[in-house]
Amino acid sequence: PPLYKQRYQFIKDLVNKYKPKKVADLGCADCSLLWMLKFCKCIEVLAGLDICENVMKEKMHRLSPLPGDYLQPSERTLTVTLYHGSVAQKDPCMLGFDLITCIELIEHLEATELEKFPEVVFGFMAPAMVVISTPNSEFNPLLPGVTLFRHPDHKFEWDQAQFQSWALDAAGCYDYTVEFTGLGAPPPGAEDVGFCTQISVFRRKYPNTGEPINLEKPTENSYRTIFKAVY
Ligand code: SAM
Repeated sequence: PPLYKQRYQFIKDLVNKYKPKKVADLGCADCSLLWMLKFCKCIEVLAGLDICENVMKEKMHRLSPLPGDYLQPSERTLTVTLYHGSVAQKDPCMLGFDLITCIELIEHLEATELEKFPEVVFGFMAPAMVVISTPNSEFNPLLPGVTLFRHPDHKFEWDQAQFQSWALDAAGCYDYTVEFTGLGAPPPGAEDVGFCTQISVFRRKYPNTGEPINLEKPTENSYRTIFKAVY
């Protein structure tokens, strides 16, 4: 399967393994990953955030319940909400999540947004688990036609050392552990290049006991709800 589908499947596998109840996808674009995740029975809250309202609206109606969802009500309740906003800004609607995914998002962030990202995602949102994927620039020479970046909107593409030192820094700062993996294995003989997509999986070291501490820090709403469905 194409790499983007492998990335979604990677998240789906993680969801099936850890059974998070509340999952948010930052930079959710046309909501393809959210649409896949709505079939995971463990999930009760699904949220998507993107800075581009139009791309979210393209196919968001796929997230609406189908007649069958009403005819055969399931045990679980599922709420799907889409927000228009930036990962460089905090909003209390992103508190209390078990898993937050950022698939091919960070390389689209401006320097000022990237600078705020760790504090917003790890410091403020502070979910139990975070998954971040981004291109591995060391793989680019193996891709036909790629000169500087894989996509003209990429603000940077990191090699393995750059990504890992950034991720280790963020993990150290906000009390997370981090493990590295990837998708799209290099061809035989080029193993040093690493995966085409690099992935870091962060886990919060200390469980949130009772109410999340950050709920005590009142924060104003900065995202706008553009879609909500309750199953
Ligand atoms: N995660 C999706 C996937 O894997 O198919 C889409 C990734 S797309 C390459 C990057 C997305 O990040 C775009 O939809 C873009 O609008 C969004 N984005 C860029 N900057 C953002 C920001 N500051 N806050 C939230 N989303 C942002």
